[in-house]
Amino acid sequence: MELNLKPLNLPGSDNRPLVIAGPCSAETEEQVMETAKALANKGIKIFRAGVWKPRTKPGGFEGMGEEALPWLQRVKQETGMLIGTEVATPKHVEAALNAGLDMLWVGARTSANPFAVQELADSLKGVDIPVFVKNPVNPDIELWIGALERINGAGITRLAAIHRGFSSIDQKLYRNAPMWHIPIELHRRCPNLPIICDPSHIGGRRDLIAPLSQQAMDMGFEGLIVESHCNPDCAWSDANQQVMPDVLNFILDRLVVRNTKESTESLNILRQQIDELDNRLMELLTKRMRISREIAAYKKEHSMAVVQTARYSEILDKRAAQGVLCGMDADFIKSIYEHIHEESVRQQMEFMNKQ
Ligand code: PEP
Ligand code: MN
Repeated sequence: MELNLKPLNLPGSDNRPLVIAGPCSAETEEQVMETAKALANKGIKIFRAGVWKPRTKPGGFEGMGEEALPWLQRVKQETGMLIGTEVATPKHVEAALNAGLDMLWVGARTSANPFAVQELADSLKGVDIPVFVKNPVNPDIELWIGALERINGAGITRLAAIHRGFSSIDQKLYRNAPMWHIPIELHRRCPNLPIICDPSHIGGRRDLIAPLSQQAMDMGFEGLIVESHCNPDCAWSDANQQVMPDVLNFILDRLVVRNTKESTESLNILRQQIDELDNRLMELLTKRMRISREIAAYKKEHSMAVVQTARYSEILDKRAAQGVLCGMDADFIKSIYEHIHEESVRQQMEFMNKQ
């Protein structure tokens, strides 16, 4: 199905991409107002704050709920910023619309559930505000497109996607693996659909916001949604990944917004593919090391030595021969496997000498 799209019509500024910023959660009226005023002073035009928070485990802070909606209204009245929040049920949609919210987004846990998305879509019939759909937590582009189609099918034409990364057990650097090839494929399949990046939930760490935002610009994303809090260390949710409004402004001032000339775009796409392959190499190496440690457990249980020379020589010879068949130099492949083996032995020794 083709998406039926109209321009988002959201305010931006001349030298910046579309930016939506605000705290992970609305905690108190003071925290909301202090953060909002500081952001508005830095030229931010769209304020985000989570009112209903989907938490992985029960017992955590699940958002202030409807009590927080008047705080967002106050933000709009006193700063002129547009206001947006996450909705996960038709009840949320109704309350948000009654409170005059200007944009809504569907969270990653919700967009993974077609029943929930369809219910949201039904509750949005006849409404004309921008709706952003986050990628589902699992790296399934069809599920993401399906969620976009359901919302679009309800008549929401001011539609956009948010790339917030994907759950993965092997990615240690990021909270959610970016898997850039997925939003790139979304762009190929839906060229007119705006895609913005959420570096906060991808990185899970403050220091990753600047490089991830730049990567999103390098790839020609339309904008960013970034978590910003007046006192990040004391945030009630996602404390590690929120930045103060001043810091966000510093990051945005240094962003290089790329022109999307075909030549550079092609180069970026190629580099992106390299990054993606490197990520996969990293994941495979992590898995390989994990299996090495399982082997170490076995060897320990059976009092076997860590290094088994015959097996090592066999690996070196076989992989070198495979490499040559693939057009690579045998010595190059051997040296890679020497390094991998060295690290594998180190991890096995460490494992065996534990306790
Ligand atoms: C959020 O934006 O605060 C949020 C809960 O994000 P996600 O749905 O991407 O986890
Ligand atoms: Mn968050």
